[in-house]
Amino acid sequence: MRAQSMQFKARAHGALADARLQSVLKRFGSGFADKRDAAREAYGVEAFEALRGASAAIRDRGLANLDAWLLRFEQEATRRGATVLWAKDTAEIRRHVLEICARHGLKKAIKSKSMVSEEAGLNEALEAAGVTPVETDLGEYIIQLAKEAPSHIIAPAIHKDKEQVSDLFAEHHHRPRLTDTEALTREAREMLRGHFLSADLGISGGNFLVAETGSVAIVTNEGNGRMVTTLPKVHVAITGIEKVIPTLEDLSTLNRVLPRSATGQEIENYFTIVTGPRREGDLDGPEHMYVILVDAGRTRLVGSDMQEMLRCIRCGACMNHCPVFQTVGGHAYGWVYPGPMGSVLTPIYQGIENALDLPQAATLCGACEVACPVKIPLPELLRKLRERQMQAGLRPWRERAGFRIWAFAAKRPRLYALATRIGVRALRLMGGAKGRISRLPLGSGWTLGRDMPAPEGRTFRELYAARRRNKS
Ligand code: SF4
Repeated sequence: MRAQSMQFKARAHGALADARLQSVLKRFGSGFADKRDAAREAYGVEAFEALRGASAAIRDRGLANLDAWLLRFEQEATRRGATVLWAKDTAEIRRHVLEICARHGLKKAIKSKSMVSEEAGLNEALEAAGVTPVETDLGEYIIQLAKEAPSHIIAPAIHKDKEQVSDLFAEHHHRPRLTDTEALTREAREMLRGHFLSADLGISGGNFLVAETGSVAIVTNEGNGRMVTTLPKVHVAITGIEKVIPTLEDLSTLNRVLPRSATGQEIENYFTIVTGPRREGDLDGPEHMYVILVDAGRTRLVGSDMQEMLRCIRCGACMNHCPVFQTVGGHAYGWVYPGPMGSVLTPIYQGIENALDLPQAATLCGACEVACPVKIPLPELLRKLRERQMQAGLRPWRERAGFRIWAFAAKRPRLYALATRIGVRALRLMGGAKGRISRLPLGSGWTLGRDMPAPEGRTFRELYAARRRNKS
């Protein structure tokens, strides 16, 4: 998928002006976040915080010896009949999958949600090679019909309303237009059933790779993952190398924190552990199983000051809690991963110079870090990316000049105190009788959609000193 993250500002403006999208985003609101909070309460707040700590520690243990756990995974998966392939970049993912298609004469691929395959633009490559890809996750199916990219990692069609889905189904299914949600879901299920039965290739992602058993763990809420991994004669699981965890015990811990953080569920509707292809005596399962382990920029993070980002378990909680994401939606971010995690991952994977505004697309309020089940310090990572941009001279000259002026004053306390005294008094005058500023000089973006309350005319230091005087 081609990154369009350089257009973040324009896309965000477009999203703000799109009344339909705004109404959908408003309805989405804090739904997932509220459910996550309720699940945390039900689990016990202290116990849940301990679970987050344990989950972060498991991810760190895997990452500390990533090479060893990956080799162990390869060894165990191979021993159980799977073929493990390595992809250093997204081009290699496409090459591996197309070679598998050619080797087994495959013509139709059913897919369960795989963000790595989105990174690789796999559907386009399959189509160009004469293999028909069919997305089977309902949200992914909708956006495939609409020829759009996902806008949320666990709810890919969250930006569409029911009317839009009705129109899409009527156009592509050539059936009478339905408007009832259940009826629409049933119709999608009926359309997909034939594809499940006629496909010869199943492509899935992998939520976790278990090193000690060579297994791929997949969680879904629709059961499509289970059909994708068992019905076709060939199954290909594609996932990032960072997803490896040492043991099944670790998996059980992470699987307590993942659904609660993502959707507030105690457990997903379907939790599948795939270990190798069909064995003698098995009633179902693929004849061949491949696991493609993808680097595509991940090893650059290992041992770096951004390594903590590799803990990510793709739950979506950070975007569910992010005020920026909730306002502009996922497409504004311009690549596969939106929200705070995307604002860190996209500059790293696509190049910081190709995603200039993403590290700034956050208020640094900290809600994402508090919600993250593996305690990734997202605001700190965003700040580091901002620093890198500044050091590389990638920010606009006005911003750089502004910081230089501020640094000059901040190192001279008397000058700083004088400047802030003049500043707050000027702002108070600007506020007039109403006490509100509708256009802020040098910061007009802040007052585009709202007024700023004018300060009362004294600096923090002056207020602090006055309070101390009053107390004594
Ligand atoms: S960064 Fe944390 S909260 Fe965001 S998707 Fe990854 S694991 Fe979930």
